[in-house]
Amino acid sequence: MVMATVGVIGGSGLYQIEGFVGATEVDIDTPFGKPSDRIVVGELAGVRIAFLPRHGRGHRIGPSEIPQRANIYALKALGIERLISVSAVGSMREGIHPLDMVVPDQIYDRTTLRPHSFFTDGIVAHVGLADPYCPDLSDHLAVAAEQVGPTVHRGGTYVCIEGPQFSTRAESRIYRQWGVDVIGMTAMPEARLAREAELCYATLALVTDYDVWHETSGPVTVGQVEANLGKSVKAAQETLKRLLPTLPARRGCNCGTALAKSIVTAPNLISPEVRQRLGLLLDKYLPPVGSGTGG
Ligand SMILES: [Zn+2]
Repeated sequence: MVMATVGVIGGSGLYQIEGFVGATEVDIDTPFGKPSDRIVVGELAGVRIAFLPRHGRGHRIGPSEIPQRANIYALKALGIERLISVSAVGSMREGIHPLDMVVPDQIYDRTTLRPHSFFTDGIVAHVGLADPYCPDLSDHLAVAAEQVGPTVHRGGTYVCIEGPQFSTRAESRIYRQWGVDVIGMTAMPEARLAREAELCYATLALVTDYDVWHETSGPVTVGQVEANLGKSVKAAQETLKRLLPTLPARRGCNCGTALAKSIVTAPNLISPEVRQRLGLLLDKYLPPVGSGTGG
């Protein structure tokens, strides 16, 4: 059942989308539990989209506790092929200012506590993640963002920390030496799971602060983040409205076949339980259940 073809996961500050037409809320359960909240399905700028606030309405779920597998699975179950992630981030470079927007092309994962694959407990798959973001979707997203107003930086590395605390100054200085561009707490394992689910994935990163490394702006605080987010969230919503009508009906990238040569477990050893749990991802690659091939 395809209810929407584009998904939007909203981060801090983006808990609902204005201008939705015919919005309905969908309460979905998945083999990985409930997603962060009910998913809103409706039309935006003439395109059917599914919207999920990553932290839940009212911001109830911390970065380490986001049910990321349930979120991606639920959006996949609704039929989406493309996923836009909107995230608040800190800047790690002098030239990336608060209120700028970044469309990153790389991620460095520093998270440690989060389930980060669908392929566990009886099945193994190794998808490629060299380029964690879909180049096509990121291009379209950057073009749309550039039409809205704030400065847009194309490309850059997002370092994803576990949180929920902000970084120490030593950590922040070391990340800068590594050459990262922005810092946040949610891109992983979202990007990993989106690739495993064969979704195109792109991030619109909203810069709210200079983290803690900047000598003149003082360490980041929640108050500073929220003040800048209010402005950036409006630009993010406008970007989405411009982006959606520009997406071609058919995808021209390789994201939709990420699993084709990645499953290494012998098909006849994949248990009925795994087939049941991951049928949404596996069925296109494996013989139908009960076809007699198992012997
Ligand atoms: Zn793609």
